[in-house]
Amino acid sequence: MSTQPRVVVVGSYNHDHIWRVDRFPRAGETRLGNDFQVGAGGKGFNQAVASRRQGADTLFVGAIGDDHVGASARRIAEEAELDCRWQVASNRPTAATCVLVDGEGRNEIVVNPAANEALSPAFVAGQADALGAGGVLLVQMETPLATVREALRLAGEAGMVRVLNPAPVHADADASLLAQCDVLTPNETEFAQLLVQLGGRSLDADQLAGTGDAALHALCRTLAVPTVIVTLGAHGCFVSHADAGGTHGDDASYYRVAAEAVRPVDTTGAGDAFNGALAAAMLRLAGQSLRTMVAAAGRAAALSTERRGASAAMATLDEVRKRFS
Ligand code: ADP
Repeated sequence: MSTQPRVVVVGSYNHDHIWRVDRFPRAGETRLGNDFQVGAGGKGFNQAVASRRQGADTLFVGAIGDDHVGASARRIAEEAELDCRWQVASNRPTAATCVLVDGEGRNEIVVNPAANEALSPAFVAGQADALGAGGVLLVQMETPLATVREALRLAGEAGMVRVLNPAPVHADADASLLAQCDVLTPNETEFAQLLVQLGGRSLDADQLAGTGDAALHALCRTLAVPTVIVTLGAHGCFVSHADAGGTHGDDASYYRVAAEAVRPVDTTGAGDAFNGALAAAMLRLAGQSLRTMVAAAGRAAALSTERRGASAAMATLDEVRKRFS
């Protein structure tokens, strides 16, 4: 067992290929790009880099192929001074994505999950020595659900805070999975999807930011996770606790945290920046209120939207302090 509390992120690594276009092509249309970049992404890896840059001792557990893309993943992780444990999938390539970013900073993404689909419960179980009481486990849904469940189970046994970022929502995500989490962090789309999938409610994600707080809180409570944080892009986020009097040092059972005013150039990975920074803040600001941690995560996420790329856009603690002092 690890002695020093750390953030452990179990999740995906993707090699991103990012094109910038003035506007997205229509079906059948070919457009000239303004710029092309490759970079490291994947929700898991992005969140791990975000947590590391926010000062937390962070371990990333993920899968790559036995190929040159996997070798660059290792190099990028080393450059980011991110501790990693890689499962090497011999029969699958390292995952890759195609990201289009338009002139307004919006994105469209295609993902080939490849090696991420090979990340196994057994490999994660083999890393149990890295889990430890007082730490935070952060998982998403770009790896097999059985692996996510195993990570949550082991983290629960180890006495860690278990944070599930349900992105993208897996078709088999159900109440038994949510029962394994302490904190759930969907964005608007994922929240609406979970409500449909678990409660048979039909809800339009676009309506959420305008929904009243009490109604939003009631919707969060149907998911039966002790704390739900719905991220609302430029509208910040909404926090809902199961305990009527609030919990995690908060004095209210539900509240909103406004987003920082920034000039976004690329919102790719804003949610990843938020989740990684939230996990890091849970260690760095231990003993303070969750509201304080969420506000810190919102600052790191806002700053990431002013930069291009996925993991490359994650901000350090110093950068966040300077930008919002
Ligand atoms: P995702 O990237 O998963 O869709 P969101 O878009 O909800 O996630 O963004 C996550 C968090 O990032 C928000 O809660 C907010 O704190 C921050 N954020 C996102 N977009 C902006 C923005 N345009 N201005 C300021 N903060 C933003």
